[in-house]
Amino acid sequence: MILLISDLHLEEQRPDITRAFLDLLDGRARDAESLYILGDFFEAWVGDDAMSPFQLSICKALRDLSDSGTKIFLMHGNRDFMIGYAFCKAAGCTLLADPSVVQLNGEPVLLMHGDSLCTRDEAYMRMRRYLRNPVTLFVLRHLPLSTRHKLARKLRNESRAQTRMKANDIVDVTPEEVPRIMAQYGVHTLIHGHTHRPAIHKLQVGDEAGKRIVLGDWDRQGWALQVDEQGFQLAAFDFVPVQPALTQQG
Ligand code: MN
Repeated sequence: MILLISDLHLEEQRPDITRAFLDLLDGRARDAESLYILGDFFEAWVGDDAMSPFQLSICKALRDLSDSGTKIFLMHGNRDFMIGYAFCKAAGCTLLADPSVVQLNGEPVLLMHGDSLCTRDEAYMRMRRYLRNPVTLFVLRHLPLSTRHKLARKLRNESRAQTRMKANDIVDVTPEEVPRIMAQYGVHTLIHGHTHRPAIHKLQVGDEAGKRIVLGDWDRQGWALQVDEQGFQLAAFDFVPVQPALTQQG
């Protein structure tokens, strides 16, 4: 059995999401051959050299899973594209390029984060090309930590403000882009996240039937795609409410 998840946007301010993820690691993921995390795993990432105690605890949890025998594959999202090899090594996961073709149930499947499919958002695509340029990445990684934090905040605020302003269809994938890239990679199945619109879409790839599986973001509930002999099953699950920390009584 293989599990795929994305868009957890893990951060210290969301203990409910963190709890649900740690429960997944201790539960279903232990029985999985592999766990794929398709981007925006963390809400923000300023560098492997600047992990917070919270991020270190997530790193350790991944490591425990990896040591137990489950292979972990991690793809960058637009929020955590600064995750580097040091984190992956410590967490026992393999960094996957976006896009990548992997064999799932004996079928080649294209995996992506999904932001590169939203080609109608030209301003975003320009910014993406700039930020993912190796020269830019080198400069970013060598900026003082306080500057990196400031930049990350600025990028997040801009992205939130622009997403509110933009038409709904330009923050979704470009319909024609999907069969084009699937044909280019010779697959009938594409799995991605990013758009926060979980669904399984049927489509035509050339003359043949294909499907596009969109993973869900973890906000009010969690989402996972399970791949086994039954096929591809996308399902949501509820979070267990996190008890508020007990305040000390004087
Ligand atoms: Mn994203």
